[in-house]
Amino acid sequence: MRENTQSPGETLLTRTQIGSRIRELGQQISVDYSGRELVAVAVLRVRFIFAGDLVRQIDPKISLRMDFIAASSYGDRTNSSGHVEINQQLQVDISGRSVLIIEDIVETGRTLRAIQDTLWAADPDSVRTVTLLYKEGPDNRDLTLDYVGFRIPNVFVVGYGLDFAQMHRHLPDIRLLESAPEDGMKDHTVQ
Ligand code: 5GP
Ligand code: MG
Repeated sequence: MRENTQSPGETLLTRTQIGSRIRELGQQISVDYSGRELVAVAVLRVRFIFAGDLVRQIDPKISLRMDFIAASSYGDRTNSSGHVEINQQLQVDISGRSVLIIEDIVETGRTLRAIQDTLWAADPDSVRTVTLLYKEGPDNRDLTLDYVGFRIPNVFVVGYGLDFAQMHRHLPDIRLLESAPEDGMKDHTVQ
């Protein structure tokens, strides 16, 4: 196995900034879904920290079911022809229901597009998306993002659930990687 030489560097977003933005997102979502039933679908596996923090900021009075979907990306992340495999094993029947996808980061938008398409195929009433981080770029401007935590530059970040080679997920802040991963990202990445 290749030795991991990358270590977390400069902090881009502190735990305090993340926490207060998530409270705002939770309040906005609570207002928007007030009096409605909601199915929150978190994407495994890196999303567990953001999803856990976000759903606890949604008004407890809202009827919320929580489910999970798995997405795996294959190929070089700079290669837009790489494909995404969705393993849909939802426990909740989303047909006719309001769905909120919980994403943590959108880069090319390939993963999110595949998830949105998969969920729409199950005939829900609506599908909205919340992402904590958004790297806005020419390839992803047409994506539907209903709630965005932070717009960030096109840098590789770790922490707060985001990994490099399964490391650094536990860091409470979001930090830049000291040097951008190259060969590591060409591997099959299970998120
Ligand atoms: P996409 O290009 O399909 O929008 O994003 C693919 C996946 O690459 C994301 O879901 C995420 O798992 C990973 N990814 C994209 N940018 C970053 C980043 O800056 N840091 C980390 N750790 N993962 C990222
Ligand atoms: Mg990853």
